[in-house]
This record gives sequence, C-alpha cells and structure tokens, in this order.
Amino acid sequence: MRLVLLGPPGAGKGTQAERISREFGIPKISTGDILREAARNGSELGLKAKGYMDKGDLVPDDVILGLIEERISSDDAANGFLFDGFPRTIAQAEGLDRMLSSRGVTLDVVISLDVTEENVIERLSRRYVCSECGRVFNLVTKAPARKGLCDACGGKLIQREDDRRETVAERLRVYNEQTDPLRGFYRQRSILAAVDGNGTLEEVYGRIRREITRGISP
Ligand code: AMP
Repeated sequence: MRLVLLGPPGAGKGTQAERISREFGIPKISTGDILREAARNGSELGLKAKGYMDKGDLVPDDVILGLIEERISSDDAANGFLFDGFPRTIAQAEGLDRMLSSRGVTLDVVISLDVTEENVIERLSRRYVCSECGRVFNLVTKAPARKGLCDACGGKLIQREDDRRETVAERLRVYNEQTDPLRGFYRQRSILAAVDGNGTLEEVYGRIRREITRGISP
C-alpha cells in the first residue's frame, strides 16, 4: 500500500501518519523528519536544508527527490510506505510518478487533511518537539507527562524554529502557492480523498481509516 498524506503545516499529518504506519504496517516517510535529523547531525544535507527550513521556504526539489529515491529503495519500503510532507510541489509529484512507474507500482490513495487556517495557527503555537529525539508533543492534546521533558528520552522540549509566528505565515503562503495545487493534480487521477482534519485525533483518524480501507479494497 502506497499512501500520501497531504495538508498544511499543523494539520496533524505527523501524528496521524504514526498511527497509520502502526496499524497498516508500512513505514512513515517524513521528509521534514529526515531533514531535521540531518540538521541535528550537522551533515552536508542538513546544513544545506536548514537555511531553507528556518525561513519557512521549501528545500529544492532535486535534493528532496534524491532523498526519496534512496529512502524508497530500502528493504522496509518494499511493500509500501506512507509519505508525510512529500510531495510538496507539482515537480516533486511528477518526479515521484517517474520513480514509481520505473518500479511498476502506483499510489493507492492521497489523503488531503483539510483544516481551517485558524486551527492550524493555534495548533502550531502549542507544538513542542524533543531537542534530542524529535518526538512531537502538543501542550493541550498530547501533553508530556513531565513538564518540558520528552516522555520517550527525557530530552528538553523546545519550539521548532519554523513554528514561530512570522515563519508560520511564510509556510502557509508557500503551502497555498506550491502545495495546495497537488489536490487538483491527484483529484484528476481520482485518488484524492478529502478528509475533515478538524476535531479530536481519534475522530480524524477514524475518517482517515475509512478512506484508506475504501481506497485499497478491490
Ligand atoms: P514539515 O516537518 O513537513 O513541516 O517540514 C519542515 C520543513 O522542511 C519545510 O518547511 C521545508 O523547509 C522542509 N521540507 C520538508 N519536506 C519538504 C519537501 N517535500 N519539499 C521541500 N521542502 C521540504
């Protein structure tokens, strides 16, 4: 099963992707997570990407496509995967098409998580991540057991550089301009499933689950 989770920053893609990955047994491939880890490790890719990320801009398509090509070639992606935060431009979607068709496979479902802009801004302002392992928390809906500390590794929780108010406005602008057109791109192929992303984590997951099950049934 090959899935894409599409939606603006703060729509809840990462959290929902983790659940889908667990239930359906496919790896979650998040380009944002890969780039943040590379930045934490100070690798060449990380240093290059950080400049774009901190400003809320997109990392160049060729860098992202190279990274995806490598990632989907790993053994754990042989039976499917779930993309979170990729593709983000039409050029990336076309690049993905080429990679998949050269492997003789296609995408099954593209889930578009639709959330109001008001909701997105509120969610991003409450999002904290572990500075050590990258786990994500939300001060209201997914609070850590110990204030300011990661449940998984005890690392310090910090706000993402790009979740600051000024950068959020830029990320939303970039999303509307470059990523939102992908909904039309996949709608034309009849693989787009629009899901209401407003509500509790459970409510939204229930809606996503229904769409996935419908999309992959014969
Ligand atoms: P995310 O965690 O998905 O919100 O991504 C955080 C940042 O990483 C974005 O604002 C971009 O700077 C960069 N990024 C992640 N995925 C992509 C992608 N598919 N294309 C370009 N830039 C990306």
